[in-house]
Amino acid sequence: MNAPTDRAGGLDVVVVGAGFGGLYALHRLRGLGLSVRVYEAGSGVGGTWFWNRYPGARCDVESLEYSYSFSPELEQEWDWSERYAPQPEILRYINHVADRFDLRRDIQVDTRVTAAAFDETSGRWRITTDRGDDVSARFCVMATGCLSAVTTPDIQGLSSFRGDWFHTGQWPHEGVDFSGQRVGVVGTGSSGIQSIPVIAQQASHVVVFQRTPNFSLPARNEPLAPATQAEVKADYGALRDAARSSFSAIAVAPPTEMAMEVEPDERQRRYEAAWARGGLMSVTTTFRDLILDEAANDTAADFIRSKIRETVDDPEVARVLTPTDHPFATKRPCLDTGYFETFNRDNVTLVDLRQTPITEIVPSGIRTTAAVHELDCIVFATGFDAMTGPLLRVDIRGRGRRPLSDKWSAGPRTYLGIATAGFPNLFILTGPGSPSVLSNMVMAIEQHVDWIADCMSFMAANELDAIEATVEAEDTWVDHVNQLANATLFPRANSWYMGANVPGKPRVFLPYVGGFPQYRSTCDDVAADGYRGFRLTVSPAADPR
Ligand code: FAD
Ligand code: NAP
Repeated sequence: MNAPTDRAGGLDVVVVGAGFGGLYALHRLRGLGLSVRVYEAGSGVGGTWFWNRYPGARCDVESLEYSYSFSPELEQEWDWSERYAPQPEILRYINHVADRFDLRRDIQVDTRVTAAAFDETSGRWRITTDRGDDVSARFCVMATGCLSAVTTPDIQGLSSFRGDWFHTGQWPHEGVDFSGQRVGVVGTGSSGIQSIPVIAQQASHVVVFQRTPNFSLPARNEPLAPATQAEVKADYGALRDAARSSFSAIAVAPPTEMAMEVEPDERQRRYEAAWARGGLMSVTTTFRDLILDEAANDTAADFIRSKIRETVDDPEVARVLTPTDHPFATKRPCLDTGYFETFNRDNVTLVDLRQTPITEIVPSGIRTTAAVHELDCIVFATGFDAMTGPLLRVDIRGRGRRPLSDKWSAGPRTYLGIATAGFPNLFILTGPGSPSVLSNMVMAIEQHVDWIADCMSFMAANELDAIEATVEAEDTWVDHVNQLANATLFPRANSWYMGANVPGKPRVFLPYVGGFPQYRSTCDDVAADGYRGFRLTVSPAADPR
């Protein structure tokens, strides 16, 4: 294969971000003979697993699946210790990958890309960083992640707080010793639900500030038996194939029945079995209409609510912990180890922010409309400006120097979640409009990187310099993504999927909800059809429209 040549000096590709996505992009694109440089804001590789070092952090897709599939040797040589590996182990794995594939020599850490501008004269991207780098590249690949732009609530008085405060998504590398501390945790999404039980075991007292109660399923984490691991490794391809052909890119038999087709006793039996099995693919995949039909969803939601009541000793605390304002799974379901049980501990207090909102942070703690909670430290488990945030925090400009933030002011517009019209030769990994966060993200990343690498090979073979989504293809795709989302219950929740967690963010369902296999086959068809919906030209400088 002819590698695309760098005709104007500079690099072939700049990749922004060195998480699972950026590392695999570097490996694949370098394999095409391209010159690639990766810029990473953190001081090491790993992305999510570099930043999110809070107590209890671990994956919620099983490790045997939440891992790269591109190298059979890598699959065989790496052993996972638990059903869901803890953060340090995942970070070790990613570092192992960086070393094993000799990736570090093309990665510049401690460097944040501040701007990327398409120069219509040269047809190249000009990329600048906070360290003074100013480079040009034919292609720019945004591997900035879906959940890397943290959001800390703007609460009056935070700077006056006498103790330390932390965000789960930017956890100190040296760790935090909570022994003897009074800790306030704000937020009860996945990060809060994972960390609260662990913090409560160490701290003298934990106050949980809950705005919205959440559905959480038991993880049933356990050591990974060597025999189980050996069995998977004996035919790893079969597990990966099963994942690739499943809706969430996680190997699970697709549910066939609707919830209301089944007698109540039998439905209960199935939910109980799923609860006992644990994991993301448990209650969620018991029936096929849970995310489509409110009555079906209610059966699952009621089942989980009954489990909360059974687990939590104090009925009033159980009531406050019980989600009632959104259908089950319309927010990302959480997985926990002893979350609801933690509220039976003497050293844990739940504060219902719906009843008594935070008014300010004072030097000694957090003041609500009811009381001042005296604290030594505060943990913000308040999440991320998801999917669009990491992209819009970079000053990205396309044709006519138009800012991406301007083009996306009413919500993101992409073709396949991978490209956006007016921004030639810019690729987005797991961008809005792709399955991304609704799937096993490592598999979603591999699919995107492979598609982009194949596209660059095609361009080289056909001596093409530029690829750009057409406005028509993009409009059709955005409509399709919205139509699919509107046929589900997802828009009913104030979730980060909807952008609802960030004040002022347009309310748009961000990921593609048609499932990973459908999406993958659309991407493959587009490529097989000569990159239908894209304009491929010999000169990127020419506006193809
Ligand atoms: P990231 O890992 O987010 O990496 C992006 C990198 O880009 C970051 O290192 C960031 O510093 C860097 N970056 C961003 N902007 C710039 C810039 N301007 N300049 C330079 N560098 C920049 N998904 C699952 O499928 N299963 C799970 O179990 C799971 N668990 C998760 C647990 C947590 C705590 C979180 C927060 C997310 C989890 N996710 C999970 C989603 C997770 O983000 C993805 O699985 C995956 O790690 C994303 O990899 P990535 O390379 O696309 O992005
Ligand atoms: P999140 O799901 O967005 O949860 C943030 C929490 O903070 C919510 O409870 C939110 O309440 C609350 N909050 C935000 N602003 C607040 C404010 N001003 N005052 C009070 N409460 C406030 O974020 P996350 O828990 O970090 O998880 C984000 C995603 O990362 C997950 O959905 C998942 O995809 C991934 N993740 C996965 C794992 C895992 O198990 N492997 C662990 C962590 C994260 P509201 O609901 O009312 O907005």
